[in-house]
Amino acid sequence: MDAARTYAVRTYGCQMNEHDSEHIAGLLEADGMVEAALEADADVIVLNTCCIRENADNRLYGALGNLKALKEERPGLQVAVAGCLAQKDRELIQQRAGHVDVVFGTHNVHRATELLAHARRHGPVTEILEEAVRNDADAFPSALPTRRDADHSAWVTIQVGCDNSCAFCIVPTVRGPEISRPFGELLAEVEDLASDGVTEITLLGQNVNSYGRDVTSRLRSIPTGATDSYEAGERWVQEGRRRPRPLFADLLCEVGAVDCIQRVRYTSPHPKDLRPETIAAMSETPSVCEHLHLPLQSGSDRVLAAMHRGYTAERYLERLSAARAGIDDLAVSTDVIVGFPGETESDFEATLEVVAEAGYDSAFAFVFSPRPGTEAAERAHEFVDHAVCVERFERLHRVLRRSSARRHEARIGRTEEILVEGPSKREPDKVTGRTRQNKLVHLPCSDGLRTGAYAEVRITGAGSHYLYGELLEITAAPRHRRRIPVASA
Ligand code: SF4
Repeated sequence: MDAARTYAVRTYGCQMNEHDSEHIAGLLEADGMVEAALEADADVIVLNTCCIRENADNRLYGALGNLKALKEERPGLQVAVAGCLAQKDRELIQQRAGHVDVVFGTHNVHRATELLAHARRHGPVTEILEEAVRNDADAFPSALPTRRDADHSAWVTIQVGCDNSCAFCIVPTVRGPEISRPFGELLAEVEDLASDGVTEITLLGQNVNSYGRDVTSRLRSIPTGATDSYEAGERWVQEGRRRPRPLFADLLCEVGAVDCIQRVRYTSPHPKDLRPETIAAMSETPSVCEHLHLPLQSGSDRVLAAMHRGYTAERYLERLSAARAGIDDLAVSTDVIVGFPGETESDFEATLEVVAEAGYDSAFAFVFSPRPGTEAAERAHEFVDHAVCVERFERLHRVLRRSSARRHEARIGRTEEILVEGPSKREPDKVTGRTRQNKLVHLPCSDGLRTGAYAEVRITGAGSHYLYGELLEITAAPRHRRRIPVASA
């Protein structure tokens, strides 16, 4: 019998992309392929690209340049480019890198194997859909075969696309308008994952807390009395009345109530859409973790308006304090952009003030870099000098580091629940787990501390990015069938 063909998927970018890569790998395996031990030996190499991060195109074309030599050695190798940059650059990719066999975009991940087969028979192909097809299971990659990296934890896409128009962001262009996945279909997937041994679910979307906005408008046009609870959720149909309310809170409650699901997380919410119902759902649903990622981007109202963020600094802080008041022991993380076009020293100082007041547990801070195709990229005349950006970035970083160190030190001596993720990447004699507040804890290896297990630990030390702990008790063994030893020698 012939050996199975092999594949490798290289992922650039965010969790949405990581999750798409799981589907691409799942589709290739459903087609009889196996993962290559070494990328250089693979029969198919897929680069799943992201154009949100800095220099994404330089990195892609650099990687493709390296693969050209490999393809010359092994002409049977197929090279595919997927993801946001493929969606944006389209035919340009094969014009710049003639050795690429297949280019497919963010809306046709489900076509990966057909396109590779087509390219083997007929030569290079580029297939980009303008937007996901509503009501088509293929619109939601979560419905596709999946090869998950972790057995105990899974991502579930609840929505694709984004209806906002942040001036720095290319997502609405490459991912299209928001489409919410039907409620019942999501719950069915979570139930399947739970019966497979998954205990932690992360709900994914570009703007998760507007989940259901499109469903709401659609359902208003359905005649009263029609059975729509599968699509909208049981709570939608209440006393024969359709409540005009956002559905994300309902989704959190119902996913959180699925048997054996012990942790529910979500990313990313938009501050302008963080509703009291969502805060209530987080506080009332025991499995929903006490962690909120609330992207600030800037603390200056002038810059927020230029970014089209839809909130002011005051409104942001009000929502944050409502979340803190409603949810005990809430950890908060954020994103901040330094040097958005036109940002003045006083704008930046406003950001520092809001960041200090918010007291974040952690943050991703970025120096602005223009993404071609966005409104902000057109404002070259207002770009902030690079040296000024670097100096501001360092000042911001100092404030962020102080607040995360304070938050972490405050946890020393506490008992925390962790979900074991595996061997520590930094210290091979340690195991790493994650608390409900999304903090990494390193602790000495111990029998039974296997990937997917839950344990109680005492926090013994703190750094700005992680905690140290000691094991008190293993509270639950992993539920998934495949067992992975976590103790490295
Ligand atoms: S909310 Fe703004 S930053 Fe987030 S994906 Fe949509 S356009 Fe981009």
